[in-house]
Amino acid sequence: MDIVLANGKILDGCGNPWFRGDMAIQDGRIARVAPAGTLRGRETMDVGGRFVAPGFIDIHTHSDLSILVNRRAESAVRQGATTHIIGNCGMSPAPVDEDHLADMRNFWGRISEQPEVTWEWRTFDQYLQTLESGGLAINVGSLAGHAALRIAVMGLDAREPTPAELDTMQELLTEAMEAGAFGMSTGLVYPPGCFASTEEIIALCQVVSRYHGLYTSHVRGERETILEADAEAIRIGREADVPVQISHNAPKFGAPCDATANLRLVEEARARGEDVTVDNDVHTNYGPSLIGTLPQPVQERSIAEIIALLRNPDSRRQIREEIVLDQWPAFGPAGLLKHGQWQRITILHAPRSQDVVGKTIETIARERGQDPFDVYFDLIVANGDDVDAIFDYIDEANIRILLQHPAAMICSDGRVLAPYGFLNDPPPYSPCSYGEFPGVLERYVRNEPLLTLEEAIRKMTSFPAQRFGLMDRGVLRPGAWADIVVFDLERVRDRATHLYPHQYPEGIDYVFVNGVLVVAGEQHTNALPGKVLRGCRKKSPE
Ligand SMILES: [Zn+2]
Repeated sequence: MDIVLANGKILDGCGNPWFRGDMAIQDGRIARVAPAGTLRGRETMDVGGRFVAPGFIDIHTHSDLSILVNRRAESAVRQGATTHIIGNCGMSPAPVDEDHLADMRNFWGRISEQPEVTWEWRTFDQYLQTLESGGLAINVGSLAGHAALRIAVMGLDAREPTPAELDTMQELLTEAMEAGAFGMSTGLVYPPGCFASTEEIIALCQVVSRYHGLYTSHVRGERETILEADAEAIRIGREADVPVQISHNAPKFGAPCDATANLRLVEEARARGEDVTVDNDVHTNYGPSLIGTLPQPVQERSIAEIIALLRNPDSRRQIREEIVLDQWPAFGPAGLLKHGQWQRITILHAPRSQDVVGKTIETIARERGQDPFDVYFDLIVANGDDVDAIFDYIDEANIRILLQHPAAMICSDGRVLAPYGFLNDPPPYSPCSYGEFPGVLERYVRNEPLLTLEEAIRKMTSFPAQRFGLMDRGVLRPGAWADIVVFDLERVRDRATHLYPHQYPEGIDYVFVNGVLVVAGEQHTNALPGKVLRGCRKKSPE
C-alpha cells in the first residue's frame, strides 16, 4: 500500500455513523478500509482519532476562469473541497464564437483580462483541454452554460432565437455533451438567459436528455416569482425528460413565502416520479458589484455607456422605475433596491469614494441629504464597475429549512479565490468561497446540532456525487478515488469575513486528491493531482 491513514474516525459519506478504522490508498484509489490498527503501508499517517471523510464535492461553483488564474485552487482545497462543478447559472466560458468573443469577455468582467485567461479555446472540448493542460489541484467537471450557447449564436440580443439560431445552439450543446459536459445550466435572472422562453430551454434540454445529462437552473426569479420560477424548472425537466437541479434555492428578500413553500413543489414533483433536487449555501449575504443589480438590458452595456445613462436625469429615472418594476426578475440582491432596504446594503469597496466604505446606503443618504437611489447611482458614476457592497438578502431561517430538507445538498456558490494576486485585488466578498463546508460543520453541526455530522458530510459528498453520476467519488469504499479530508471537528472554524486579507478556515488538516496530498498540516503542498471529469457521453439511440 502507498499510504495508510491509521486510527481515524471514518465517515463513509453515505450517512452511516463513523467507525474507528484504517484506510489504505494505492494508485490514487482507496484500496482497503479495515479496523484500526490492522493496515500497513510504505507510509503510515496516524491521524490521531480525527475524522476522515470523502473530499467535499462542490457542485455549484463559478471557478471557470478563476481556476485558470489559480490552479492551486487555494480557497477550495483549503476548505476540503476536492471537486468543483463549474459552468453554473448559465455561465461557462465555452463554447465561444469568434464574432462574439468581445461579448463573452465583457460578460465575464475583469477576470477575462488576466494573462492566464487566454481565450484561445473555442469549443467546449478545447476549454476542458485548457483546464487539463496546466494541471489542477482539484477535480473539475463542467456544465454547458446556456448563456454561452446563446452568446455564441446571437450575442446578447434581447429576443427569441430564429429557428436556425436554435438549431445552431442545439449543435453547440451536442458538441459540449460529446466533450463531457454534465448537462446544461441556465441563469434566468441574468442577461441573456432572462430573454429565453421556456420552450427554448426545453428544446435545448432535449439534447441533454439524449446524453442522460442534468438540467441545473438559477431559476427565473428567487424572490417575488420564486414559486412560478421553480415550477418552470420542474416543467422543463418533465417535458424534456431530464433530471432537474434547482440551484441555491433559498428564497431571497421579497419572496412571498419561506423555503417550505418552494420545497413543497420539489416534494410534489418527486411524488409524481420527477427527479428534482436542490442545493443551497449557508451564507446570508453576498458582495457583488453595484452594477449587477441594474436592469438586465442596462447591464449588457459598456461601463462608459452605463455611466452616461446614469448621468442623464431622464434615463436615470427610467432605470429606477425599471428596477422597481423588475420586468425580468433580477437576481436576489436587486430585491433590496426594489423594496428600499437600503440599511441592508453596505459599501465594501469604492476606491474613488473612500469616505463611504463601511457605511450603508441608508446612512450615506442621510448624511448627504440625498435620495438613496441617487446615492447608489452616483457611486456607480464615480467608480464604474469598481464598487462592491455587501447585500444582506437571505433570512437564515430559510437556510436552516433547506439544510435539513432531504432533497437538498450543500454547495458553496463560490469560486476558487486566493488571498494573494489578482483574486485578492480587489478582494471580492464571497465568504462561501473560503468557508462554506467548515462553516456548516462549525455552525450547524458542532455549535448547534441542526444536522448530525454524518448527515452534513453526506450532503457534501455522496449525495452531490450521485447527482452528477460521480459514482466512484464521494464515498470511502475500496475502488473509489482517494479524495479524502481529514479534519478536527473541535477546531473547525470558518474564518471568512469581509476583512482583508481573506482567511482560510481552521481545522481542515489534510486533503488528498486522487490519492495525492494537497493540504498537509493546513499548508498547500503545491501538488496538482486533480482531473478534468467528463460526464456520461453515451447517447441514447434515437
Ligand atoms: Zn446563481
